[in-house]
Amino acid sequence: MVETNWIQQAEGLSLPTQHLVNGQLVDPFGEDVLPLRSPRDGSALPEIALGDERDVDRAVASARAAFKDRRWAGKRPSERGAIMRRWAELVQENAEDIALTISVEMGKPVREALNVELRAVANCIRWYGEIADKRPDENPAAGDDVLALVTREPAGVVVAVVPWNFPLTMTAWKLGPALVAGNSVVLKPAEQTPYSALKLAQLALEAGLPAGVLNVVLGRGEVVGAALGRHMDVDVVTFTGSPAVGRAFLRYSGESNGKRVWPELGGKSAGIILPDADLEKAARTTAWGSFYNQGEMCSASSRMVVHRSVVDEVLHYARLQAQEMAPADPLSADAPLGALVSENHLQNVLGHVRGAIEEGAEVHTGSAERFTVDGQPEGSYFAPTILTGVEPGMAIEQNEVFGPVLSVLTVDSEEEAIQVANGTNLGLAAAVWTRDLSAAMRVSRRVNAGVVWVNCFEEGDMGVPFGGVKGSGFGRDKSAHAIDKFTDLKTTWMELES
Ligand code: NAP
Ligand code: MG
Repeated sequence: MVETNWIQQAEGLSLPTQHLVNGQLVDPFGEDVLPLRSPRDGSALPEIALGDERDVDRAVASARAAFKDRRWAGKRPSERGAIMRRWAELVQENAEDIALTISVEMGKPVREALNVELRAVANCIRWYGEIADKRPDENPAAGDDVLALVTREPAGVVVAVVPWNFPLTMTAWKLGPALVAGNSVVLKPAEQTPYSALKLAQLALEAGLPAGVLNVVLGRGEVVGAALGRHMDVDVVTFTGSPAVGRAFLRYSGESNGKRVWPELGGKSAGIILPDADLEKAARTTAWGSFYNQGEMCSASSRMVVHRSVVDEVLHYARLQAQEMAPADPLSADAPLGALVSENHLQNVLGHVRGAIEEGAEVHTGSAERFTVDGQPEGSYFAPTILTGVEPGMAIEQNEVFGPVLSVLTVDSEEEAIQVANGTNLGLAAAVWTRDLSAAMRVSRRVNAGVVWVNCFEEGDMGVPFGGVKGSGFGRDKSAHAIDKFTDLKTTWMELES
């Protein structure tokens, strides 16, 4: 097999920059542009035309018109399913181009974008396409003289606001269930990842999604995101991002039309390692889970909670894992990690690490300085870093870093491990490592998290929901449950003549 020369291919990469409204690429009303740089090498990318309230109004109007005339909602579910499955095929056919786009815009290794992200995106869209015509409505037995129908109706206009870390996986997790239910959508991608979002949406049109059913507006969160959140003609907001912005969307709703908001927010997941665990697997997997995707992962196992009796052995394996994951050019064939999304974000991550050191943590592996990849001094790289001496309550232990930084906390008992795991405001995910089935169940029942992994990490499937509790929000992505977020239950009563 001939290896793709990604660096050469990147030179001819075309990157769309306009908004997508009613099936057309259009210029926004205003003149403002957003200069973007590739975090890989600091090079300039095509400027993005920034939207404002007028662009939001136009996109929402396009989605509303498409919903009103039922050009999509009125199709048979089997027809909607077929178009979505065709869309998934087109994603697969264009996977290399889109993976390269993601890698250039947000810095993850192109191989991961291709083999993990693009596969997940196609799989997600196909999965919802397949379930389209397999969801029966209900008619509860209500008596001989009446007929009661309980149907799931599309909610109307759905707004999806997404982050940049798994830009298209997060987008597919929203678009799959929202579209299969018959809604029209306005998508606002993160500022850093507009190009891949536009490419994904264009393929939906090519697959036969009617114009206006999926619109894309680009712009700053505080402008475009807020205008969408406050819009009086939007029925549902599905949001993935930081806890603070998730709460802002709940406020926008309360201050406008009371639209429903589904927040899927950040995490500070604990990986609890009990003394009887397979220590090498537990240590390596927890470290991997906090470094993978440059640590820019909502479910990152950023806190390793280890029984004191095994901490030395665990640290030994965690260090080996960190050393095997040194960042490299994301367009090289075998980079384990790429660049952080931006120079700005790199500075945030450095700030977290330096703050931890001031609070008394020590760098066990890695560093508190930027990492330089040969030949790319302008790239925003950071090496996997393990901090020891971290205590519950320290800022590094409480706050999401969203970089490849693992905090190690030692505990003396299972009880203490549970207390530490539950000691933050967030509750997305957790893992417990033990060979004792009862201990695994005791811990997993008491850990406040939407997802608990026992002796594994990042296990997932389209049929299984994903989401958090507490400050991590209450939305759930994936599975048939996600479709319910975008539908209303409707009851129709009919009196029957005897
Ligand atoms: P973010 O800053 O919250 O931004 C997310 C989205 O919200 C972006 O599209 C952003 O637009 C927009 N936004 C920002 N400020 C806004 C405002 N004031 N009003 C309305 N919209 C606004 O998050 P991020 O930095 O992109 O992503 C990282 C976060 O996402 C982390 O907390 C991570 O844990 C979380 N995440 C959660 C999951 C999950 O499934 N639970 C999955 C992945 C990521 P701009 O880009 O234009 O600012
Ligand atoms: Mg942002």
